Amino acid sequence: MALIGCHDLNLSYEGKTVVEHLTMEVNAGDYLCIVGENGSGKSTLMKALLGLKKPTAGHIWFGQGLTRAGIGYMPQQSTLGQDFPATVQEVVRSGLRGSPFRPFFTKAEKARLQHSLEVLEIEHLARRPFHALSGGQQQRVLLARAMCATDRVLLLDEPVAGLDPTITAQIYPLIDKLHQSGITILMISHVIPAAMKYATHILHLNREPVFFGTAAEYAKCPVGRRFLEGGNG
Ligand code: ADP
Repeated sequence: MALIGCHDLNLSYEGKTVVEHLTMEVNAGDYLCIVGENGSGKSTLMKALLGLKKPTAGHIWFGQGLTRAGIGYMPQQSTLGQDFPATVQEVVRSGLRGSPFRPFFTKAEKARLQHSLEVLEIEHLARRPFHALSGGQQQRVLLARAMCATDRVLLLDEPVAGLDPTITAQIYPLIDKLHQSGITILMISHVIPAAMKYATHILHLNREPVFFGTAAEYAKCPVGRRFLEGGNG
């Protein structure tokens, strides 16, 4: 059984359908890139996977004992204010699922926090204020926070939005490292070459799914070729 699936899923806002007839499955170990024009429903799908948006028809299911609590999420960087008054360690720790009112962390939680800081190579920044970091460093912190929440599935919404190409080139290999360590990745991306380099599967949305399959098949099919060449898919 797959890890995450959608069956004939429809999503809408105030009666306006923005995703329809989406059926797909994500297996453990997949790296799925969700591509499509602006407004094609990618972020809305992610909200639905996180349980923040209710389907108007169809359904989302989880297999292999996965629950929403086992999914880590990294929002677009722009959604965290630049004045966010917290240290790196506090931001990463906020990914742990413990009660927000519990003043201490268990040994396992502390180990998880430390592991996330190490994997993303930001231990040396732990006490720095989040807002004082560069854009690329902030992305590493947000990835570490998402990793604190899970070692199974990460949902990433445009992980390089607003970053310059040099930093973008550093972030994708890091995400690949997380994938290689066994984490299933679902990522919205506008950076098509990176998507094609690292993804195992592609979902191309244009309200309806116009393609769902392996990255190799996408590169060969007409809709994929048009999109990769910069057309409108
Ligand atoms: P994408 O992530 O592919 O850019 P979105 O999922 O953000 O697309 O948006 C899909 C459609 O839903 C767009 O037409 C957008 O205007 C609309 N939309 C997104 N969020 C809302 C909202 N909160 N209320 C109403 N319409 C929305």
